[in-house]
Amino acid sequence: MRALVWHGPHDLKLEEIQAPRAGAGEALVKVSAVGICGSDIHGYSGASGRRTPGTVMGHELSGTVEEADGAASQHTGQRVAVNPLTPDGTCAYCQQGMPHLCPNRRVLGVNMGAAGAFAEYVVIGVDNLIPLADGISDAEGAMAEPLAVAVRAVNISGLQAGEPTLILGAGTIGLCVLLVCRSRGIGPVFMSERIPHRIEMARSLGAEALSADDDITGRVLDANGGLGVSCSLDAVGAGPTIRQGLMATRRAGKLVLVGLAQPSVDLALYELVPQERVITGSYAYRPEEYREAVRLINERAVDVRPLLERTVSLDDAPDAFEALATGEDPSVKVMVEP
Ligand SMILES: [Zn+2]
Repeated sequence: MRALVWHGPHDLKLEEIQAPRAGAGEALVKVSAVGICGSDIHGYSGASGRRTPGTVMGHELSGTVEEADGAASQHTGQRVAVNPLTPDGTCAYCQQGMPHLCPNRRVLGVNMGAAGAFAEYVVIGVDNLIPLADGISDAEGAMAEPLAVAVRAVNISGLQAGEPTLILGAGTIGLCVLLVCRSRGIGPVFMSERIPHRIEMARSLGAEALSADDDITGRVLDANGGLGVSCSLDAVGAGPTIRQGLMATRRAGKLVLVGLAQPSVDLALYELVPQERVITGSYAYRPEEYREAVRLINERAVDVRPLLERTVSLDDAPDAFEALATGEDPSVKVMVEP
């Protein structure tokens, strides 16, 4: 089968590799659509050390079940969204309902060997398959993964309907957080972003979108009686956005970090400790949060279509990666359709 193999920074090649075979409890899925994630771009450029040479990346996918083991064989031919996380199911975290934090978890396209979704086929556990509704496109189905990340972040935020919030960064994750907030009546939603195209996108999806150079803190404090928001969400994860998020959050409020742009940052403790602010990470999603994301897409309770700006073939994918890595392409979500 054809697959995009990552050999090192800015070195991605379309190659013929051995197609995977499904084992016990697994399904062979023909990939229909797979999104290029910010983490794939960090991996591609070498900015993140989390990808090893020879890897086939790709974890935001939908596809069609070609064959499935056991009772799941009835799913053959079905269109599905694929949850890329495979926990071990036996550790303390798995047993306490936190399989996404399993230290032995394997993630398709990250650490499952040469088996990611920038390829014609993947093999995944049958429990990772969630059916897609008729009328939902393959690309929409692939958006279940970033949407699930947003569902997790908003669940952790504790934000309720009618509460204002601030989202830092209007890339795919930030915009998915916006869509989940709006589906739950959370708002007004302020967003800060650097790239003009994405500021426009955030505004068109209902956010009070601000340029990252604006007085974000001032605007958010003004809009909420000078108190700040009870929770802000950082979908960038860099020093300046973390500081803005903290400053816009009221005392004893929470900052949820979803982004991971920098491995370490300077943190001004005088903006954290005396105010009893809380900083928490949000990672991936629980299985039920992934299913929730698929339900939101299947019912169009959240419409991800505006985020889908460009589709490329496997042949054109290396150029698409390069254009995203250099910033030449400001598209929110680029889909690869093998
Ligand atoms: Zn585990």
